[in-house]
Amino acid sequence: MLFKDYRIALNEAEQSLDKRLSALRDEFLRSYHGEFNPLKNSDLWQNGLYRFCHFLPKGADLHIHGLACLPVEEFIQWLMSQDDIFIFTGEMPKRGSLRTIAPGAAVPEGFKRFSDAFLDGDFSTDELRTIWTLLGENPHQTVWEWFETIFDRHMYATSDSIVRRYYEAVFRYYVRIGIQHIEIRVLTFGTPQEAASMATAIRDAYYAVMDSEPGFSVKLLGCGLKYSWVDLGVTTSMMENALYIHENVKDTRRGEDFLVGLDLVNEEDRSNNISFYGGLLTRCVREHPSLKLMLHCGETLHTGSTSVPEALQLCPVRIGHGFNLFRHKHLEDVIKDNDICMEVCPVSNLELHYVNDLRKHPAIEYFRKGLPMVLASDDPAFQERENLTDDFFAAAAFWDLSLADLKLLAFNSIKYCSASSETKQSMFEEWLRRWDAFVLTSL
Ligand SMILES: [Zn+2]
Repeated sequence: MLFKDYRIALNEAEQSLDKRLSALRDEFLRSYHGEFNPLKNSDLWQNGLYRFCHFLPKGADLHIHGLACLPVEEFIQWLMSQDDIFIFTGEMPKRGSLRTIAPGAAVPEGFKRFSDAFLDGDFSTDELRTIWTLLGENPHQTVWEWFETIFDRHMYATSDSIVRRYYEAVFRYYVRIGIQHIEIRVLTFGTPQEAASMATAIRDAYYAVMDSEPGFSVKLLGCGLKYSWVDLGVTTSMMENALYIHENVKDTRRGEDFLVGLDLVNEEDRSNNISFYGGLLTRCVREHPSLKLMLHCGETLHTGSTSVPEALQLCPVRIGHGFNLFRHKHLEDVIKDNDICMEVCPVSNLELHYVNDLRKHPAIEYFRKGLPMVLASDDPAFQERENLTDDFFAAAAFWDLSLADLKLLAFNSIKYCSASSETKQSMFEEWLRRWDAFVLTSL
């Protein structure tokens, strides 16, 4: 069966499993007392619905940001084997900052090799979970200000070697939790050669994992900054770096592009309008037609925001979030008619306070209206227990989704990913095989 012709319909076994899904949700909601945050709910694994979502074949994760991919426990485990990563053991606000220090180089005051610091008890897992995630949010800052300090603590990926090792750990983790394909948004700083060297290191990590997992695949999206205080020249050079990577770093094993899309990131409410970059982005995709725009927009509560209409003007193939589309209802048909996929990240939206209760999240309305949609994890390292599982759990629990709905969301992640048609077809066949096995073993 071709993935293009596939239509979601439940067979008899799936209909029985759908009833089980409802029962698991009822069981969870009976014990639910109004607050859900995967970082706080350490007992999620006790929950039958969560385990169901863990084993559910979810396909691909199409919206994640580099250096925010490994959940805390996984990240700690990885750091323990990295002799060149050091951590600042002094006080906040720098406490917990990571740096890569080459063998033999002087160690700055206050820094200690991570494995030593962790074994010596300078940090507990609980403390790291607090200072490396949104759990550590405090009343003296906005949540985004805190969020950005977490990124500042993770500025250790300063050599190609560490980039390669980190991403290999990320890819192996994704393989282990059953995800078949991921698309990572990376910032393309530096000279074009430096940016290409970073992309090559990520590709090498992907190839290393592909040796044992030939079905697993990875794509990059090159991202620039859109903060209003960042010079347009900086954003332009980041986009040019992305073009350079697109041209020079290919997935030669699959014969496909490796960097497939462009985006601009940052907190939307402190950024320039997307239209400010319209000329730049339009030029990039006009000169490189195989590159597509996948634009963050609508990640805001501002009633006057026009980021969704501005992004749609640029003809993206996907949009990141699109949370406040409800303020532009006339554009729902544009999204549907042009088959533009919405990358919805429910847990991220909750933890960054765009919604305080997932039952009020507008995406369920978009989904019911038939708008193309996937679930994605955004910055799982700083927001989640298990990448994507938390998002499927949140949607299954609070949006009253059926098994057919979950199946459609998983299928969409393959349908709307950026792999070639051939790769999508084999990804789809593997996903279907896993799905059938899941149905049989979960009944
Ligand atoms: Zn994002």
